[in-house]
Amino acid sequence: MNHPKVNNTLILGAGPAGMAAAMELHKARHHVHVVEKDIQVGGLAKTLTYEEDGNVFRTDIGPHRFYSKNPYLYAFIADLLHEKWQQVPRCTRFYIGGIFYHYPIRFTDVLKKIGLWNACCILHNYLYERARKCICPRTLNSFEDYVVSTFGRRLAEFNMLNYTEKIWGVPCNQISIDWAKQRIGNLSVIAAIKKMFIKCGGPKSLVDIFYYPSHGTGLIYEAIKNKLLAGGHQLSLQSEPVVIHHENNAITSVTINTPQGEQTLYPAYVVNSIPITRCIQLFSPPPPQNVIRAAQSLRFRSQVYLFLTVNKPSISKDNWIYFPDKEIPFGRISEMRNFSSHMCPDGMTSLFVEFFCFKGDEIWNASKEELFEMSISTFEKMNFFMRQDVRNIYLLKKEHVYPIYDLDYAEHVQTVLEWTDSFSNFYTIGRPGRFRYTNQDHSLEMGIHAAACILNKKKWQYTFGKEDEYFEQGYVPKTVTNEESTPPQGDREHVATSPVSGYRDSNR
Ligand SMILES: Cc1cc2nc3c(=O)[nH]c(=O)nc-3n(C[C@H](O)[C@H](O)[C@H](O)COP(=O)(O)OP(=O)(O)OC[C@H]3O[C@@H](n4cnc5c(N)ncnc54)[C@H](O)[C@@H]3O)c2cc1C
Repeated sequence: MNHPKVNNTLILGAGPAGMAAAMELHKARHHVHVVEKDIQVGGLAKTLTYEEDGNVFRTDIGPHRFYSKNPYLYAFIADLLHEKWQQVPRCTRFYIGGIFYHYPIRFTDVLKKIGLWNACCILHNYLYERARKCICPRTLNSFEDYVVSTFGRRLAEFNMLNYTEKIWGVPCNQISIDWAKQRIGNLSVIAAIKKMFIKCGGPKSLVDIFYYPSHGTGLIYEAIKNKLLAGGHQLSLQSEPVVIHHENNAITSVTINTPQGEQTLYPAYVVNSIPITRCIQLFSPPPPQNVIRAAQSLRFRSQVYLFLTVNKPSISKDNWIYFPDKEIPFGRISEMRNFSSHMCPDGMTSLFVEFFCFKGDEIWNASKEELFEMSISTFEKMNFFMRQDVRNIYLLKKEHVYPIYDLDYAEHVQTVLEWTDSFSNFYTIGRPGRFRYTNQDHSLEMGIHAAACILNKKKWQYTFGKEDEYFEQGYVPKTVTNEESTPPQGDREHVATSPVSGYRDSNR
């Protein structure tokens, strides 16, 4: 049967990337249909709400701070949230060997806590690596090589190597050097020292202020959802694609499974932001064998989370606390109240606890009671709260959280994306869609860029600047207006492809 192609786009996945594409197409009066398997939009950047006897607790899946190099993104969000987008001062600490350390590092703080002998060892190691760089540079093959040569082994082991292994679940010598370039970039001992003395400037990982929506980061995507529904677009929740039909390098139709049953759609364009590993399995006819094999080699690290509601007005002043020590089962905690007072009822607070795992392992399979038992002694020891202070325990699981940058990932990603990017009306975007460790800003940019490609009938050509662009770089404007939020029609592509940004904290 012949189906007339109309000016419409099917968007798979309603995370930041998919929703940004939808919003930009909506602005250009182009019809979209968004298909999302979850019951709400926002992807990893959604905000969950829990009601307990009339008390409302909100949490992100790990609080999401925003910043970017791209002024258009600030305007894009300001246009959606207006005054509900607020600046928050950042307070981060590490907990190592039973001691709290400020982050960014304050040298007097560290010196006091680690003692003169350890400080001398760190300095000695660092100077050794500096000298070695000049005389006989190390061959840099892995994340471990990179951080050891940049900081010295002792400092690398203090809070980088062990924490990175906790995130990825593989030894640091098996992690691609790309990860170090993306995460650490131009961060160095010298940069950290400069930051101590000069308040402004310096790499972005050390920035002290960020933007946060009053009711959680998911507010951004809920606002887009409302605009889409008001604009007559379609949103199918609890739905997923089951077959992507193609012919002559073009997608011809997509069959989706919805709560009402199967439905076949005939979009002019498809924007994919679901995991590329899953998407590849849906193509009919199937991709070439080498593409299938490459996709099968890509792995995601998963996470499980505990969200604890607590009968105390406050636990600490921190936004995030990181736990590199292997003996502590979780990697990071955050107190939502310290991002916005709207995240908790008065007189109560909450704690979000992140565990790293692989789907099906011991942590993944643990019950909320088991995870709580593994963790409570640490909270009691830190004097944060006692077990009897905990009102409720909620458990969440996410499978496709971190695209794993192992030593071969880049080659596999290239094989897969070269094939998917060759379609004339198919764009794969976002963190799971491009197997790229992005934050909201880069995912939003990719969605905006995909929309620009569709509107300008262009092929995908977005790059992250240099492939090793440092994800902590960016700026935080003092105030944000929405004046820049509607790019001139002819200039859409310029806006979307111009200043590409990035940033990153220890793990997102
Ligand atoms: C713990 C944590 C903390 C973070 N902190 C920050 C932060 O502070 N700042 C920041 O900017 N970023 C942060 N991030 C990163 C941010 O969440 C991601 O960059 C962003 O969500 C990526 O958006 P995306 O649209 O590319 O992918 P996703 O958010 O993963 O969206 C993909 C969407 O596709 C849907 N989907 C998957 N499979 C299917 C299917 N088969 N059918 C239909 N739909 C499907 C998913 O449900 C999801 O909605 C953090 C992430 C985590 C995990």
